[in-house]
Amino acid sequence: MKDKLPQNLQDLRSRLVSHYMDVVPYKAVDDPTKIATNANMDSDSIIKLDANENPFGSTEAVTKLFADASNISIYPDAEQTVLREALARYTKIDKNRIVAGAGSDELIDLVTRLFVSPGDSIMISSPTFGMYSFSASVAGAHVIDVPRNSDDFSLNIEGILNLTENAKLMFIASPNNPTGNTTDNADLRRILDTGIPLVVDEAYVEFTDGDSSSLLNEYPNLMILRTFSKWAGLAGLRVGYGLFPEDIASILMRVKPPYSVSTLAQAAATTALDNIEQSDQQLSIIISERSKMLSSLTAMADLKVYPSEGNFFLVEFVNGNAEQIKLNLLKRGISVRYFDDSVLKDYLRISIGLPKDNIKLLKELESLIQEVK
Ligand code: PMP
Repeated sequence: MKDKLPQNLQDLRSRLVSHYMDVVPYKAVDDPTKIATNANMDSDSIIKLDANENPFGSTEAVTKLFADASNISIYPDAEQTVLREALARYTKIDKNRIVAGAGSDELIDLVTRLFVSPGDSIMISSPTFGMYSFSASVAGAHVIDVPRNSDDFSLNIEGILNLTENAKLMFIASPNNPTGNTTDNADLRRILDTGIPLVVDEAYVEFTDGDSSSLLNEYPNLMILRTFSKWAGLAGLRVGYGLFPEDIASILMRVKPPYSVSTLAQAAATTALDNIEQSDQQLSIIISERSKMLSSLTAMADLKVYPSEGNFFLVEFVNGNAEQIKLNLLKRGISVRYFDDSVLKDYLRISIGLPKDNIKLLKELESLIQEVK
């Protein structure tokens, strides 16, 4: 009987879906405890500017929920009824066109698997958010990359239009992570007119004016993803949502894991929407810090900052010492994002933090640029 068991690791591997062996893991940010241990500091004193989180944290209305979490012994509402109703009021989009996920990451994965079979291709424009390629590789798909224009990171629309025929799905983040720029609706229309299913990832939409939701009624191939991780300070709870054509939303409701958005995540997201004024105050501080930081970074020697519509900046170090600067900032307790990637090797992405932390970052950056020169 036992001779039916896999005889060794090789034998076990031969039974796996083969493309899983080729997946390159997503490079997640380090946990603050690990960062603190490496920097020989207390984890509370780490200034975390590496994941575009809300530096103010979640609002009081949300944290109060955790004191009375009596309902966590029962499963969450698989239909996400209360949250989807709150989202319908917030977005002015019908509830039947909305699906929540365990972060927008889960929806990126679900949508990819909905449109893409092993061997198919998705289209992206790099540099962009790494989860699109990651989810494609988990689905056994290829990635067609039409890189952004190198001067301002705008999309190469002609290049995209030439290749949409070859892809089953395209992702565009607007504002884009890590470059911070948006894509306007006129350009989105040109891509949508080709008929390609297009995901516009609006994870940072609350930090900018305008969005693409007005195109939803016109284009059945448009899907919009959003999240509570950035503006609402709920990154650790994992809750995002998508606005879809009704048919797509109902298929997603059928295929999603039923309970992926936990009871507390659904309640916290609903509470965040019901108490939006508290988040709005935080947002306006972050946006005003963004313009102050843009001026300060623009005035600094040896770096180039790209204007951003998100809660972060992409900064290019003209002397090619981005990684060194990242490591030195870390020794001073400030964590920023470095991408181990040939195109972005001279860049850092720096999230906008609390006003006092932004001042510290700018001061340390200025002195480090002199030091590593
Ligand atoms: N889209 C973009 C463009 C992002 O930058 C991020 C977070 N880094 C996400 C989606 C994922 O957000 P969530 O926490 O909702 O999974």
